[in-house]
Amino acid sequence: MADRLPRLRGAVIARLIVISGPSGAGKGTLIKRVMSCLPGLRLSVSATTRGRRAGERHGREYYFLNRSEFERRIEEGRFLEWAAYTGNLYGTPGKAVRDHLEAGRDVILEIELEGAKKVLSQCRDAVMVYIMPPSLEELERRLRGRGTESEEAILDRLGRAKEEMGEVEARVAEGLPPLHYVIVNDKVNRASDELARIIERIRIKDEQADH
Ligand code: 5GP
Repeated sequence: MADRLPRLRGAVIARLIVISGPSGAGKGTLIKRVMSCLPGLRLSVSATTRGRRAGERHGREYYFLNRSEFERRIEEGRFLEWAAYTGNLYGTPGKAVRDHLEAGRDVILEIELEGAKKVLSQCRDAVMVYIMPPSLEELERRLRGRGTESEEAILDRLGRAKEEMGEVEARVAEGLPPLHYVIVNDKVNRASDELARIIERIRIKDEQADH
C-alpha cells in the first residue's frame, strides 16, 4: 500500500475508511445502512480461516480459506493487513482495495483494532472510525442474542473487546492518533446517521481541496 492515497491536483480522489470496533458492536449493521444511503462506497471482502456460519457465502461475507492457503497468501504479500483474532486469521486482500481506490471509489474496511492500526500506520490518508457498544453488558447481550458463537467463542470475544475498548478509551483520553472518530452505537438509526455524516464531511473536504 502506498503511504498516500491516489490524488488529483494534490487532492485525495478516494478514501480508505477503516471501521473498527469489538465484535458485536454493530459495525456490519451500520455499514450496511450507510451503504444503502450513500453512493460510491465499496466494502472490502476479507479472507478468514474461521468456519463458515449458516447463510454465509464464499466471496460475499468472506473468502473462507484453510490455514495453509492463508499463510501462503501472507508469504506472497497479498494482504494489506492481517491479524489473528480469537484463534483465527483475518486479512484484507490488497489488490481489490488498491483497484477500487485507483478507480476513485471509496473503500470501507471492517476490521478489528490490530489490523486497523496497521492500515493507519501504513496509509496516512486513511480515516478511522471506531464503533463502541454502549457498555460491555450490552455487548455481551448482543453477542449472545446473535446466536452465532459457542460459549467459548463468546467469552474470547468479550475478553478481546474489554482489552480493545480499554485501549481506545485511553487513546481518546490522551488524544492519541490514529483514532479520528468514535461512535457509540446506542441506537442504530442515530449511530448510522452519525457515520453517514462523517463520510459526507470527509467527501466535502476532499472536494473543496480539489478546487
Ligand atoms: P467475525 O468472525 O465476527 O466475522 O469477525 C471477527 C472480527 O474480525 C471482527 O471484529 C471483524 O471486524 C474482524 N475482521 C474481519 N475481517 C478482517 C480483516 O480482514 N482484518 C482484520 N484485522 N480483522 C477483520
